[in-house]
Amino acid sequence: MKSENPVINQILDAYKPIWSINHAASLMGWDFETYMPRKGTEERGVADSQLRLLYKELLLNKDFVDLVESAKKQKEEGLNDVEKGIVRVLDRNITRQMKIPKELTEAESLERVRGNMAWRQAREKSDFMMYEPHLKKMIEIKKQIAEKIGYEKHPYDALLDEFEEELTVDDLDKIFGALTPKIQKILKKLVDSGSPFCKEESNNLGKLKYDIQKVGELNREILTLLQYDTERFRMDVSTHPFTEAMGLNDVRITTRYEGTDFKRSISSTIHECGHALYHLQCDQSLSVTPVEGGSSLALHESQSRFWENIVGRSRPFVQFIAPLIRRQVSFASQATDDELYLYFNNVKPDYIRVDADEVTYNLHIAIRYEIEKKIIGGDELNVSEIPQFWNDRMEQLLGVRPTQHSQGVLQDTHWSSGLFGYFPTYTLGNLVSTIIASKMRKDLNEYEEENIRSGDFKPIREWLRQKIHQHGSVYSPKVLLKNSFNEGYNPDYFVTYIETKYLGS
Ligand code: MG
Repeated sequence: MKSENPVINQILDAYKPIWSINHAASLMGWDFETYMPRKGTEERGVADSQLRLLYKELLLNKDFVDLVESAKKQKEEGLNDVEKGIVRVLDRNITRQMKIPKELTEAESLERVRGNMAWRQAREKSDFMMYEPHLKKMIEIKKQIAEKIGYEKHPYDALLDEFEEELTVDDLDKIFGALTPKIQKILKKLVDSGSPFCKEESNNLGKLKYDIQKVGELNREILTLLQYDTERFRMDVSTHPFTEAMGLNDVRITTRYEGTDFKRSISSTIHECGHALYHLQCDQSLSVTPVEGGSSLALHESQSRFWENIVGRSRPFVQFIAPLIRRQVSFASQATDDELYLYFNNVKPDYIRVDADEVTYNLHIAIRYEIEKKIIGGDELNVSEIPQFWNDRMEQLLGVRPTQHSQGVLQDTHWSSGLFGYFPTYTLGNLVSTIIASKMRKDLNEYEEENIRSGDFKPIREWLRQKIHQHGSVYSPKVLLKNSFNEGYNPDYFVTYIETKYLGS
């Protein structure tokens, strides 16, 4: 990209080596999860932490910081939106890196390795006490980081902002305050009425062993139907599916094959495809700049959830891929469209977040949000009380009570990796995906019946490109939502979507 503004041009030139470090780190991260021989771990660890140091050095280099400062001063006068975006993103990164002292960064990365190891062992033994001292330590570090970063109202705001620009406890209290009781009510109705979505038989197709090779072929056929450009995109296999973008023209996803419950593999593939499309459809002029790629975690997750749930679990889509499923999954060869649809949309209040259906998923996030807010906020909850609180809330919200810590407080890796403030973005992504669906329906009349049923995804992709993807991170998430949809993280659309789909009202 070339700018008319000489300072911005200097910034973009100086940014190239910084971008290249990110590029290398992304490629190394992808490799680590896919093909790296296991014994390469230690050397990779050295290379990775050295690259991170180098990144920080380049970003905080005085000349570079001065350039960004001088561009910041021009902001009101002559910068266009893209240039303002570049300055905003760099300024955020620089400020954060400067505010957190080196000792805290080091303490966190050390505790991340130790805590993660302890968490793995603790989860295996389902023993919270083994992990407790590490969790305590990490929370202490996070509280210190929050103090260094600063906040207006709540220390947790400082941590939330890292993952979702300008997100606050006030926002989330409002969102979960409205969302949680409504979802609870819908769930109760579904369960009490013996809805077909909740019937045990709806999940029979998930119980038999599938042929991994064949479901692999099925996933590739779906990629072809969704028209993914294999010259800029590839798919591999990993235990936990993810998307990694080296840039705008080398975007990679992974999927998983557990051997049973084939919808998990298909849904993972479609989910990651949604993340990938955000990069693939970003305007090419933003390539190798600080504003390529998505605006925020929530916006990113809105894309993956849109494709996974709104498209992928819709009746027209399930009907569309049903012939492929019958061909590749032998025990599904006689399944009707209706059986497949109910299988993809089976609702079951259960312990594990990553396995949760559309209806119950956000209740899992609500519990994590409540705990994080209390624990970062101060004295409301002690670390030792977390398991009890978790189980109590689980019982209140979902009607199931974990009998082992591995089914409860020990199930997620996030806290051991220092990711406090991350969970809420999953729910925001779900909410935004339904805002998108509703707005899209206004512009593309009957897109479900017209486009999805016939496999014509082009109008949907193009709409997403215009409204969201092309902008990369030029706009902060709140501004993008306002500009494109005249909305915020409004939970009403999600509630209506769930009611309509599952209760038919
Ligand atoms: Mg995701």
